[in-house]
Order: sequence, then C-alpha cells, then structure tokens
Amino acid sequence: MLSNSLIELDRAHLVHPVASYRGHEKAGVRVLRSAKGATVTDATGHQMIDGFAGLWCVNVGYGQESIIEAATNQMRELAYATGYFGLGSEPAIRLAAELAERAPGDLDHVYFTLGGSDAVDSTVRFIRYYQQARGKPQKDQFISIESGYHGSSTVGAGLTALPAFHAGFGVPYDWQHKIPSHYAYRNPVGSDTAAIIAASVAALKAKVEAVGGAERVAAFYCEPIQGSGGVLVPPPGWVKAMREVCRELDILFVADEVITGFGRTGPLFASEDEGIVPDLMTTAKGLTSGYVPMGAVFLSDHVYQTIADGAGAAAVGHGYTYSAHPVSAAVGLAVLKLYEGGLLDNGRKMGARLMAGLESLRDHPLVGDVRGRGMLAAIEMVTDKEKKTPLPAAAEPARRVFDRAWDNGLVIRAFANGVLGYAPPLCCTEAEIDAIVERTKLTLDQTL
Ligand code: PLP
Repeated sequence: MLSNSLIELDRAHLVHPVASYRGHEKAGVRVLRSAKGATVTDATGHQMIDGFAGLWCVNVGYGQESIIEAATNQMRELAYATGYFGLGSEPAIRLAAELAERAPGDLDHVYFTLGGSDAVDSTVRFIRYYQQARGKPQKDQFISIESGYHGSSTVGAGLTALPAFHAGFGVPYDWQHKIPSHYAYRNPVGSDTAAIIAASVAALKAKVEAVGGAERVAAFYCEPIQGSGGVLVPPPGWVKAMREVCRELDILFVADEVITGFGRTGPLFASEDEGIVPDLMTTAKGLTSGYVPMGAVFLSDHVYQTIADGAGAAAVGHGYTYSAHPVSAAVGLAVLKLYEGGLLDNGRKMGARLMAGLESLRDHPLVGDVRGRGMLAAIEMVTDKEKKTPLPAAAEPARRVFDRAWDNGLVIRAFANGVLGYAPPLCCTEAEIDAIVERTKLTLDQTL
C-alpha cells in the first residue's frame, strides 16, 4: 500500500510538470513502483500496460538489461566529462558519429542537450547566430504552427501553440508567429489532402509576407506529426511541401522530432517518411528511451559551417554543464543497438496492428476520428459523430477516461480536448497490442 505520508509529502513539496496545482493537491499523487517491458506496476501492486511509454519516451520498454549495464559500466569508468576546454568522452563522440551516419542527408553535426525543451531552445540560439554569421541579422522572425508543441523553455513555450503554455507566462514574443494547423479532422478547408497542403502553403507564404517578407524570417518549425496538440497527422506530402516552401524562401526548416524520432512512426526518423532533409532537427525522448535525460540537435553541414566560420577563433557561447553527458551517451549507444537489433522492425509490425485495432473501434458511438502512424496514434472522442461535437470540457472527460483506463489496466494519455493518445513501447507483443485495443473498447463503453 502507498503510505499516506508519501502522498502528503508529494502534496507539500513536489511541484509537478504541467498540472493544476490545486487539482493535484486534491487528487493526490499516484506512485509508480516498477516496470518491465511494456508493463508498469503502481505502489498498490496494480499492473497496467503502458500505452504511452511514460511520456512517449520509453520506446525500448522498461528494464532492458543491456542499457542498465551500459549505464553502470560508464558510471564506474567515467561518470562525468565536460565538453568544455576541448575535452570529451568516448561514448559522446561515438554516439554523435552513429547518429550523424543515420540522420537524413547532411545533418552531420550533433549538439547534445538534456532533453527536448533545451534542444528547441538551442536551435533558436543557433539559428540567430547563423543568420548573423551570414550577414542577415534582420532574419529574426520565427514561424510555427497552431496546436504545435516545442517544449516549455521560455523561448520554446512561445513557439509552442497550446494556450496553457502561454497564459500568464508572457509568451509568445512578438517575433514568434503561428499559422493554422493541418488538423485534417477539423480543417475548415475539409479533409482533402491537396486542399490541406495548398492551404498550409498559402498560410505560410502569407505569414512570411505579413511579418515583412522572407528577408525577415529566420526559420519555420514543425513536428512531422503534431504530438501534444492531439496526435495530428498531416496528409502525405504536407511535410515535403512545407520543406520546399522554406527552401524556396531561404527560411530554415526545423523538424522537431522529439516525439517522432527513434522509431515512433516506423523509420528511425519521421523525416524519412517523406524523404526530406531538414536544416535542423531536434530529438530527445527515444534517444535514451527515457532511461536518463538527453536530447540532441542535429545541424546540417551548411548551418554548422556558417556558424563555425562566423565565429572564427571566438567561442560560440552556447553550452551546458551536462552537454554530451557520458552516461547518457552510453545509454544512447545501447538504445540504438536495441532499435537496430529488432525493435524498429517490431515497432513497425506492432504499429500496423495497433492502427488496425484502433480502426476497428471507429464505429463506436464515442469515436469521431482515428489517426496515427506507426506506434503513434489517437482516437478523438465526440458526443455527436455527425456534428463532430467535442466532449464537454466541464465534464472533465480526460481525467475520467484516464482513470477508467487505469482501472482497466491501461495507461493512455487523455488530452483535455477528448483525444486519447497512444505511444506504446516498440517492444510490445501482439497480445499486448490487442489488450490495449480491448481495454480501450471497455473504457469507451464505460464512458458512454
Ligand atoms: N518538442 C516536442 C515535439 C515535444 O513533444 C516535446 C515534449 O513532449 C518537447 C519538444 C520538449 O521536450 P522535453 O519535455 O524533453 O523538454
């Protein structure tokens, strides 16, 4: 049993990320005790399939011995090495090289961070430096997309376009602009692929004009699939079309692959789904599969060389104490081995099974939309399928559905707008995928 004192200590002292503080104090914490494979166990002994891989990050599943061994060995050998003063560590160098070899095109240069938010934050600094270095300091405006999520750093939260990350925080800044999302289920132009792509291309071009023309715009950010906005999958060709507009207008294209990277959609990086090469790419989560914190910014050769030439002998003043942490890097190398030792393949197979299973629920009276790619999926619940009426926010549907699923032995993400998110570990078995679908159906039936 979970002792009351632990709940009290949590209530009194632990500030939780993205939570209603008062709501959390009332509800009390649920403590997870252990996990193995795709199964998590809470402090009461209740077991659940983790259909969300923690926070879409534990891609290889829990308790992988090779990772534990890699981390332990690295801690014993060299627990810390700074990258400052021209120093480095073998795992960090090797991981950067392995990643550069696998990343799309000439994304050959890797800057390690602690997670996704500081990866996004780092791109903003690199991009500003790059535009200065090439003699275009006036290119200082940034464009991202409604419903997009780019982390919670002060600058990244302004690129993020979810209201809770703005209200009360003084962001976005006036150099951060948004265009509408491609959100096919609720797009004013309808769900036709060509129409959605044309609308997004026109919106980007119009926004560029509105902020002073291409000579003012530094970069455009997008997620290959919008995650925290509710798993919004763009139609095929959308990412490629947006990438092309950016090339045409001399605007840097940043693919934020913090969720979609590392096998989540099938290939190692979702940019491969459309054969595009971003100018910069951000990753985190699956990079170390959540075992230890780490993120990575990939810089294309032209961006890196321009920054390096621009700085000359001077230091590029960007870095953290824990950039390229050797233990995280050792974990990253072990994780990469697991992906390539069968988990990417398994993820692709299980992703197809998950999508087919969720599709089979499409006729359920509460299911308005089913969408996803690979092991990243969502169901959007509605009260009226014809009118696409969202579930009433006042009824706290997200919390209730989350609680019911939990009781039914399934952890999913229930977004406030009635979207149920799925991102199971790539190690899931067929039986586990089937159980995710069955438990979802049971939960939906109970929610009717
Ligand atoms: N970018 C995207 C697309 C994300 O989904 C997230 C987190 O979910 C982030 C950035 C921020 O990453 P982190 O939570 O590791 O700071």
